[in-house]
Amino acid sequence: MAAEDRLRKYRGKRDFERTREPSGQAARDAGDEPRFVVQIHDARRMHFDFRLQVDDVLKSWSIPKGPSTDPGDKRLAVPTEDHPLDYENFEGVIPRGEYGGGTVIVWDHGTYEPLSHDRRGHPVDFAESLERGHATFRLHGTKLHGEYALTRFRGSDDEDAWLLVRKGPARSEKHGTPDPRRARSVRTGRTLAQVAAAGEE
Ligand code: MN
Repeated sequence: MAAEDRLRKYRGKRDFERTREPSGQAARDAGDEPRFVVQIHDARRMHFDFRLQVDDVLKSWSIPKGPSTDPGDKRLAVPTEDHPLDYENFEGVIPRGEYGGGTVIVWDHGTYEPLSHDRRGHPVDFAESLERGHATFRLHGTKLHGEYALTRFRGSDDEDAWLLVRKGPARSEKHGTPDPRRARSVRTGRTLAQVAAAGEE
């Protein structure tokens, strides 16, 4: 499916005369390694948005508590619409009353290695593994490093839910996730409050 079709849902929710989010029209050179981004979104409810580049879109999940670095934490991840690749760089204020109205910072970004494999250990196509509901990958971010798995646990179309889990031995130290209100943008070092204040100028 072309990105044009994949992004129909994304565009249908937004008025690009009002929001500064990317419309996804700009061509973008794909690097060798697929990208990931984690944004913090202070919307009606605070959440993290976790996005993995698959071909020419960012597959997206909304994670209320954010990704954890502790393998003991299973984090609920609710799928949202595919986003354009240049959304990776979006940081700013979505106007109140618009879809997703609120402040967004880029908390972490980088590349990832697809690791999905079948029961016999043979590599499988990453997009296909997501369609089947279980994908593994290694993140190479500024803050997040290491292997994670995304697993679908409820199958009905309207109530699809996934779990994002860090793989590896459980840890004794408390890593978890940072407080979203104190967390800083990996791009600009700013907090949500600082981005919100700049957006109101
Ligand atoms: Mn969001």
